[in-house]
Order: sequence, then C-alpha cells, then structure tokens
Amino acid sequence: MVKGNKSKIDNLGRVVIPKSIRNALNVEHNDEINMRVENQSLIITKNNSTCNICPEEKVEVQIKDKFLCKSCVDTIKGF
Ligand SMILES: [Zn+2]
Repeated sequence: MVKGNKSKIDNLGRVVIPKSIRNALNVEHNDEINMRVENQSLIITKNNSTCNICPEEKVEVQIKDKFLCKSCVDTIKGF
C-alpha cells in the first residue's frame, strides 16, 4: 500500500493527489481517473480506456477495478 500525505479539500472541492500516489497509479498531468465511493472510502483508479477482456476502447461498465465494453457485457449476460 502506498500512503500519501494528508490533503485538504479546497473551497472548490479540489484535492491534491500526492506525488507518491500519482506515481503508484502511473498517472500524469491531464490523465483521466475514475472515482467511486466504497465503504465510506474514496477509491481512485486510473482511467483504463480499454476493455479488460478484449481490445475495445469504449468502456461501458466498471466493476470494481475492471472495465468492460458493451460487447463483453452482452457476452457475459448470455451465460
Ligand atoms: Zn470487451
């Protein structure tokens, strides 16, 4: 687990992601990230622009830290 320093949320709701966390996620300036709340925790993940199953780039669904395109979701629904 990588820990960052404490941050404060500014009056516009912004928060600085510590460099140690950015490095651990391999995210840089202008990269997109995903955020979700789970058990009262904010989970930030790197925006994975491709499906985790096939090479499709348009991601439709995120389940935990996995990203799926519509085609793969439909395939799974068929089982
Ligand atoms: Zn897919």
